[in-house]
Amino acid sequence: MNIYKVLEIEHLTESTFRLRTERPAVPIRAGQCFSVGPKGLGVNREYSMYSGAEDPYLDFLIRRVERGVVSAALRNVRVGDEVEIGGPYGEFCLQESVSDRRYLFIATGTGIAPFRSYVKTSPSLDFC
Ligand SMILES: Cc1cc2nc3c(=O)[nH]c(=O)nc-3n(C[C@H](O)[C@H](O)[C@H](O)COP(=O)(O)OP(=O)(O)OC[C@H]3O[C@@H](n4cnc5c(N)ncnc54)[C@H](O)[C@@H]3O)c2cc1C
Repeated sequence: MNIYKVLEIEHLTESTFRLRTERPAVPIRAGQCFSVGPKGLGVNREYSMYSGAEDPYLDFLIRRVERGVVSAALRNVRVGDEVEIGGPYGEFCLQESVSDRRYLFIATGTGIAPFRSYVKTSPSLDFC
């Protein structure tokens, strides 16, 4: 787990927000997730990457759940605060050759995050 700065926080609805942080200097694949938590809280949760694999930052799309420990704490971070991030983790990734396929993505709420990461990474992706 390493420490990164919060670059932006955008409140999209009362409960859902986009959190932008500095990016770890490691290879990242679209669709992977990270373990994220406010510095010092001592608890982290997994969040899917919402940004593109090559973007110079990490974006997360997070919903604050009722009585949730980490999602509520992350909702209150400010620009310049520090967060703990581990990863990337997971294999929810597209195969290398994406140009010859058509994709159907099904998600609700913040579940769109990995799909948005695919599309930001490969803008020519044929999907609906
Ligand atoms: C691979 C992966 C990717 C994910 N990606 C995203 C994402 O992109 N965006 C996103 O928003 N979320 C994502 N999640 C979910 C996220 O990891 C957290 O589970 C979510 O944010 C809730 O964490 P929390 O600490 O806020 O809630 P917690 O503190 O874990 O609580 C969760 C729920 O359980 C209830 N609860 C907790 N303890 C008790 C108890 N003792 N008795 C009864 N109820 C209890 C709480 O009230 C709450 O409703 C992902 C999860 C995984 C596994």
